[in-house]
Amino acid sequence: MPIQWERYPKVARFLDPRHDHAPAEIACEVRRDPLTGRSGRVAHVLGFHLAPVDFGPMIEETRSGCPFCPDRVLQVTPLFPESVVATGRIRRGEAVVFPNLAPYDEHSAVVAMTTEHYVPIEGFSVAQLSDAFGAALEFFHIVSRQPRTPYALAFWNYLPASGGTQIHPHLQIAATDTPGNTLEQELQASRRYADAEGHSFWSELIQAERRAGERFLAHGSHTAWMTDFVSQSLLADILVIFPERRSLLELSQEALDEFYRGLTQVLAGLRSTGVYSFNLAWYSATPDRDDFWLHARLSPRVYMAPRVWGTDVSALQMLYREHFMVQTPEDAAQALRPSLHL
Ligand SMILES: [Zn+2]
Repeated sequence: MPIQWERYPKVARFLDPRHDHAPAEIACEVRRDPLTGRSGRVAHVLGFHLAPVDFGPMIEETRSGCPFCPDRVLQVTPLFPESVVATGRIRRGEAVVFPNLAPYDEHSAVVAMTTEHYVPIEGFSVAQLSDAFGAALEFFHIVSRQPRTPYALAFWNYLPASGGTQIHPHLQIAATDTPGNTLEQELQASRRYADAEGHSFWSELIQAERRAGERFLAHGSHTAWMTDFVSQSLLADILVIFPERRSLLELSQEALDEFYRGLTQVLAGLRSTGVYSFNLAWYSATPDRDDFWLHARLSPRVYMAPRVWGTDVSALQMLYREHFMVQTPEDAAQALRPSLHL
């Protein structure tokens, strides 16, 4: 069965105090993710304004004690045991990989990505991304020889609105046998789909999104870019799919270079729409999973109400796991498409 874009319009009715309590109708929409069935909404569209946030004072205040700045990173960060990384840390260009002082798993590390304490969202060079992700991949290759490390988790929390606790650009990486709920659900759903349909959901998704056109951003030689039909960000997520690749460790240098190039362009595009913070996560399976294609999700993060540090995650997302978008992914794609030239 072809992919279904399930959307259910809903209408809220009230007497509007802004118009002398005249009857008003406000539309919202419930959507279902075509792979997992996860629901989400287009809602709260009226009244949302992406207010700028001045991170300047915070950037300066955190500079002097920053553990990832070049004058401190080699003094205050842990070393890998010699049996894991003989030189203690992995270094590549500006990037330094070291064990996470507050680990999430048996093999849990941090990549300090740059020598600069602060890099604007649109300011990352392809070389910086290449060194940072390349160093992360080196870590994954090294720990893949250890037991209980089939899944590579690599994620980026950029600036505090994303949950990041350091201004200094850094990646979190972990090799694990428990890949987290989202990846587990996607793996199960991908297998169910492939068993029922006889082909990969991900191949079908790219074709369906290309045909629909509304959310599709670009297709390169190694990657397909689109906004997600049921995004987890208020402002629509960007999905990057690597056709016929299952694991991060399978990517060619050409595929990685295309990703870095696209990522710098998307970040610049997001900046031009006022976005200042994001989460990025890779979903990497094991090489035996022909039903699953490697992908990354970039989720813009903002303060819903910066004046009171109101975040964009409330009980609705946190406890009901129900995300809503104040901007449709279709509108987000239209705004981003001109930025992306793979
Ligand atoms: Zn720093």
